[in-house]
Amino acid sequence: MLQLIDQVRQAMPLNEPETFVCGPKGSCIGCPKKLLELVDTEIGYWESAIEQGETPLLGEVSRFAKLCRNVHRGLARSGILERYQTKQAGESDTDSA
Ligand code: SF4
Repeated sequence: MLQLIDQVRQAMPLNEPETFVCGPKGSCIGCPKKLLELVDTEIGYWESAIEQGETPLLGEVSRFAKLCRNVHRGLARSGILERYQTKQAGESDTDSA
């Protein structure tokens, strides 16, 4: 579960609200803000549950994975992921310069 959470954190702009414009000027397909909040809430729940010694069941891991896949698809459709990846690529270029 923690490995999955790590992958999701890397793949999705959970703490990067600037990757999309939220507000009347936004041109949203679906609601990226809500999708990301959904994933963020699940991550928060599982991180604290695991910290308290709880072990997620296989079905719970698979339910979380399914949610992330669906959100990932939604973000890809709205172009958010592409923008996020471009932004990350730009940042790593500046890091290595
Ligand atoms: S659809 Fe969601 S992300 Fe888009 S402006 Fe509305 S609240 Fe923000």
